[in-house]
Amino acid sequence: MRGILRAKGIYLRGLLMRAFEASKHFFDVAAEHLSIDGDLREALLMPHREVQVQVTIERDRGGISNYVGFRVQHDHYRGPMKGGLRYHPEVDLDEVRSLASLMTWKTAVVDLPYGGAKGGIGVDPSALSEREIERLTRAFVDQIHDIVGPDKDIPAPDMGTDHRVMAWFRNQWEKYHGFNPSVITGKPVEEYGAKGREEATGRGVGSLTFKLTKRLGHHPEKTRVAIQGFGNVGAHAAKFLHESQFSIVAVSDISGTYYDPNGLKIPELLHHKLNHPRGLLEGYNGCEKLPLNMLLELEDVEVLIPAALGGVITDENVDKIKAPVIVEAANGPIHPAADAELEKRGVTVIPDILANAGGVTVSYFEWVQNRQHYRWTLDRVRQELDHTMNQAFENVWQASQRDQVSMRTAAYIIGITRVRRAAELAGLTS
Ligand code: NAD
Repeated sequence: MRGILRAKGIYLRGLLMRAFEASKHFFDVAAEHLSIDGDLREALLMPHREVQVQVTIERDRGGISNYVGFRVQHDHYRGPMKGGLRYHPEVDLDEVRSLASLMTWKTAVVDLPYGGAKGGIGVDPSALSEREIERLTRAFVDQIHDIVGPDKDIPAPDMGTDHRVMAWFRNQWEKYHGFNPSVITGKPVEEYGAKGREEATGRGVGSLTFKLTKRLGHHPEKTRVAIQGFGNVGAHAAKFLHESQFSIVAVSDISGTYYDPNGLKIPELLHHKLNHPRGLLEGYNGCEKLPLNMLLELEDVEVLIPAALGGVITDENVDKIKAPVIVEAANGPIHPAADAELEKRGVTVIPDILANAGGVTVSYFEWVQNRQHYRWTLDRVRQELDHTMNQAFENVWQASQRDQVSMRTAAYIIGITRVRRAAELAGLTS
């Protein structure tokens, strides 16, 4: 039973803490600092709109299958809402609501002119054929096309969706509303996508890891890094950090943990992943192989980067986490109770709403390019991304030093302050 509950939420001292409750906790800590309470706190936290729809598709083998799709639009005061689409069996309204609220604070922390949203379908995409995923996407668009659009709500890829899904989404949406590629981001580069979008989240994670460790006085060559997850984000972060001379001693994916105390050969691992039919490290023999969950608990590691799932560091395993620096590449990897314990121990955490904001930042660049019918070079995308991430990091770092709070609370303080200001200017509290 406990295992089943774990799959749907996060265990907190015997109580089930759902995803939205966990993200609300971090919001509440910052709201206390800002003395925001009562109806205003509720207005900032409450989702603007939540939509749940039936998604029915014809199966290749004959017959039909039914799924539930969601779109939660959390906040629109700073601009059109923005957030990914997740296809995963555990997608439910609570998870989407939590991720939508994180998008509001994330776009505000990096100061993009957007609000926050998220969507998804409770489905295991690995159980569907490519044509079935296309039909699923088109059926979902048929249900929600009226509430999304370039000036309303702009989806993007997330777990279980990729540039192909974005291309189908756009094509179906345009059947109703006409040509407008800026309805969605993360598209294939030759279909109005942006160069550098795929690497953007991992690159942002890597560049902020570089910046923080430098500030804390570590030299890259002497900094050992462990990365949980070797998917889009984990692999690009590993590539960036390896090229910046960091020693990546461990990476993991669902096939296990790959470990070399002298530093893994990252180009070899990337090559292996590229040639594996499911993009895994399974079968790689160039290093020691450890059980899956050992990565988080490695002793001789200066930086830990969770880049796979939410809720992986809890009050049950926090005592075994030894890294003095954690960079949250995944959304919500640290449970509130564990976060408090890490803060007490002086562990520095770059929070998700800052660390993984590189993806939405380059999504914004894609949207801008689509609206201007003008293409940027990869160099320009990287330069502007680095500038945006550096600026956001500096703001959060300075606020955390000034107010003597964690970087997470500082990031929330900045995000909430910007959203509150926009809401006030729009007349919310007049
Ligand atoms: P992905 O599906 O490409 O990769 C996920 C990786 O995690 C895979 O290598 C998978 O094998 C591995 N994994 C799954 N369960 C694991 C486990 N128990 N232990 C170790 N590894 C495990 O997904 P992604 O796009 O890289 O996203 C990863 C995280 O980053 C998610 O939390 C996502 O919400 C977040 N994120 C992604 C982006 C983006 O642009 N892709 C942007 C912001 C945040």
